[in-house]
Amino acid sequence: MFRKWLKLNDACPHCHLDYSFAAPDDGPAFFSLCIVAFPLTFFVVWLQVAFEPPFWVHLVTSVPLLAIGCLWPLQYIKGWLVASQYMNRAQEAGTEKLWEQLNRRAAEKAD
Ligand SMILES: [Zn+2]
Repeated sequence: MFRKWLKLNDACPHCHLDYSFAAPDDGPAFFSLCIVAFPLTFFVVWLQVAFEPPFWVHLVTSVPLLAIGCLWPLQYIKGWLVASQYMNRAQEAGTEKLWEQLNRRAAEKAD
């Protein structure tokens, strides 16, 4: 489904589903922050309060943990969001007419 790390293919290589509907925007980053960064921040604060380690301990543990923890799930979250968008026929609220126009224009071009 991905051409590059977070870049979608134009269509599914298996079933040729057109991915032009897919626009998760900053959704993956948002979910990554909520699911990973927020709990990890509590861990970092706990580490500081419980052990009062020198600053370099955070450079070795907290910074890589946060970076990897936030970046690693992005592709999975984006795949999940695109799939949900397809299953729920989701689109931005109030843009139904715009999508109708765009789809009509694309259909006319294809003819
Ligand atoms: Zn497919």
